Amino acid sequence: MRLGVMGGTFDPIHHGHLVAASEVQSLLGLDEVVFVPTGQPWQKAERRVAAAEHRYLMTVIATASNPRFTVSRVDIDRPGPTYTIDTLRDIRAQRPDDELFFITGADALAEILSWKDADQIWDLAQFVGVTRPGHELSDTGLPAHRVILQEVPAMAISSTGCRERVADGDPVWYLVPDGVVQYINKYRLYADTDALPAEAP
Ligand code: ATP
Ligand code: MG
Repeated sequence: MRLGVMGGTFDPIHHGHLVAASEVQSLLGLDEVVFVPTGQPWQKAERRVAAAEHRYLMTVIATASNPRFTVSRVDIDRPGPTYTIDTLRDIRAQRPDDELFFITGADALAEILSWKDADQIWDLAQFVGVTRPGHELSDTGLPAHRVILQEVPAMAISSTGCRERVADGDPVWYLVPDGVVQYINKYRLYADTDALPAEAP
């Protein structure tokens, strides 16, 4: 199987993530794309991130209707900060025969060389860098034979923008799937950025 791996904080998951995954799935003929919500993201240690269980459930809601999309708990079930090398090793261990394609936006792609054990990730997966409005997708200095650059429909949406909109009382309809809008309202996520995030069920 050709397996896409879409890692992210998904705080919350939005249509930029979903369009990127769908487009890469189609263009590369992937059999499945597994979304992997991070545990505690090491790059985001300075800001409060919604409980992993909330981010996981929003990801499940957002992907449920697509027969090629699945969600993995490997990162949220592993203690400690999430590093992509561990994500790829765990997925590889679960699916030893699959060919892995790690999908990442232009902003994250530019940072790969700073990731833990960066020199070892190339053996585990092919990397697919997708275009993202506001970020340059060009010469990254990454090994050309392991990186595919792919243009996808431009979605100028970020989770940060969605959280700010909720905190300001602005709508996030059509930026995130309907079920995610309702989930955010149900648990009052992001409503008051200073308050503790609601406990996941
Ligand atoms: P935040 O603002 O909290 O960083 P985000 O919108 O960047 O959130 P992440 O969960 O950090 O979302 O991103 C997960 C992956 O999805 C990253 O590889 C990122 O580059 C990619 N991505 C996020 N939004 C888009 C988008 N609009 N278009 C293409 N790729 C995207
Ligand atoms: Mg981001």
